[in-house]
Formats: sequence, structure tokens, C-alpha cells
Amino acid sequence: MRACFLDRDGTLNIDYDFVHRPQEWDWITGVPEALQQIQEAGFTLFVITNQSGVARGRFTLEQVKELHDYVESLLRVHNIHIKKWYIAPWHPDFHEGKDPELLAERKPGTALFKQAEKEFGINLQQSVMIGDKASDLIPAIDLGIKPYLVESRFMNKELKLWCEKHQVPVYRDLPQLISQSSLLKT
Ligand SMILES: [Mg+2]
Repeated sequence: MRACFLDRDGTLNIDYDFVHRPQEWDWITGVPEALQQIQEAGFTLFVITNQSGVARGRFTLEQVKELHDYVESLLRVHNIHIKKWYIAPWHPDFHEGKDPELLAERKPGTALFKQAEKEFGINLQQSVMIGDKASDLIPAIDLGIKPYLVESRFMNKELKLWCEKHQVPVYRDLPQLISQSSLLKT
């Protein structure tokens, strides 16, 4: 199985900070259609998302899961299936009394990617990761997954240089990535 790993906020939906309610979910234009094309090209879709708002007590893991159920219901209309949503609800500043190893689930940690690999028999070398921050793509680079960056409000000179240094292709958004990159041809 080849996976297309996706970051959530700033990649699929507009990142308003701590998005956790259905009414805060705004697709970046053209994303569902782009996901459909990625799926049709033979990739299985996974989302890997850091949700430190849970550790911070701003919302619950249950609310995050309910939001994802809602998003799945929107995607069903397009026949798109997210195989699994991997959530890292941790933050190092709010981790007292918890197992320190759990922090490796948080990107740029690789734990959730490895978990997906194990759970679904994913071929990481044939897989891709799409995100809007270096921290989304560092674990991909570490594991031999092809990284792609989409621009968001986090785009800046430093990130641009980082992408150049690591030969990470940069696109305006997921639809542009689909139409201009070699992703669907690999
Ligand atoms: Mg993001």
C-alpha cells in the first residue's frame, strides 16, 4: 500500500488556530477534488495531525474525533475515504505525569507514521507527505517518504530556504500541487 499522508490545518482546511468545531471547518478551495484525484491515482489517504489544544485543555479528544467524523461525512459525497486520522493530542509544556514517549507522536516525531506503516503495511518509499510546515515534513524526510509543502500563513523566508535546502517542492495549495507536480505520475 502506498500512502498519501496529509497534515490537517493549513493543508486541508484554513488554519484559524485550534479548529475543533464543524462550523470552523473551511476547506481550502479545491481540496476535496484534489483528494479524490490522489485517491484515484492509487494512494490511500491518512491524516496525521498535532492537536495540542487537547493537552492545553482548550477542547477534548472526543471533540476532535467528532470533527473528523463530520469531515468524513463531507468527503463521502465525493467518494473519498480517509483510512485513518492519527492525532497527537500532546504538548511538552502540558505533559506532566504522562508517559514522555508519547511526545514522539507529535510531528516532527515519526511515531505516528511508523504506527501507520505497521498497522497497514505501508510502503513508505512509495508514499508521500503533504504539509504546510517543516515539522510536517521532517518526519517524512527521516523515513524516506517524499515530502511536499503547500503554502499557508506560515510561509516565510526561513521556510522557503529550508525547502530549498531539503529539496522539498513548494506549491500554493493542494490543487496546484496536483496539477503541477509529478505526484500523480509516480
Ligand atoms: Mg498545518
